[in-house]
Amino acid sequence: MKTETKNTINSNIMQIEIIKGDITKIEVDAIVNAANSSLLGGGGVDGAIHRAGGKQVLEACIEIRNRQGKCKTGEAIATTAGNLPAKFVIHTVGPIWNNNEEKCSKLLADCYKNSLKLAESLEVKTISFPNISTGVYRFPKELAGKIAMDEVKKFHSERLKKVIFVCFDDENEEIYTRLLE
Ligand code: ADP
Repeated sequence: MKTETKNTINSNIMQIEIIKGDITKIEVDAIVNAANSSLLGGGGVDGAIHRAGGKQVLEACIEIRNRQGKCKTGEAIATTAGNLPAKFVIHTVGPIWNNNEEKCSKLLADCYKNSLKLAESLEVKTISFPNISTGVYRFPKELAGKIAMDEVKKFHSERLKKVIFVCFDDENEEIYTRLLE
C-alpha cells in the first residue's frame, strides 16, 4: 500500500500527522501495537508488527509476560522493535467493543494515554499509532478517532515532537483527516 502524508497540525509544540499506509514501513522512535492481552501476537496490525519485527519482539513479549503476566486492557508495555524501523514497540491492549460505550471509551483513552506516558519515559520524539480496536475488536471508528485525537491533543509533553496516526483503511483516513481539520 502506498504511504502518503495526508495532513498535519501543530498541537502545542507537538505535531500531529496522518498517514495512510502500513505502520511497519514508517520510521519513528516508537511504533504502537494494537496487541491482545496474551502479548503473543495475533492478526491484523499485531501480526504485521510481529512479522516485520521478527523473533526479538516476540521473545521480549514472552519475557514480559513470564515476569508480569498478561497485559490488561488499556495498559501498555514496551519492547525492542527488532527489525522494524524504530527503537521500541509499545504494545497496548484495546477494548473489545461491547456496546458499553462509557467503559469501552475510557479503556480506549487509557491505551492512548498510557502509550504516550510510556513513550515519554523512554524519551521518544516520534511515535506512530494504528487505529486501535477498530479492526476485529469492532470499536466504532468515528468514536475511536475522536478519543484518539482528544487524548493526543490533551497530552502535554516536553520531549515528544510528532505523533503520527497511521490509517490503514479509507474510512479511518477520512475520519482522521476530518477530525484534524
Ligand atoms: P484490533 O484488535 O485492536 O481491532 P486490528 O489489527 O484488527 O486490531 O485492527 C486495528 C486497526 O489496524 C484497523 O483499523 C486495521 O485496519 C489496522 N491495520 C491492520 N494492519 C495494519 C498495518 N499493517 N498498518 C497499520 N494499520 C493496520
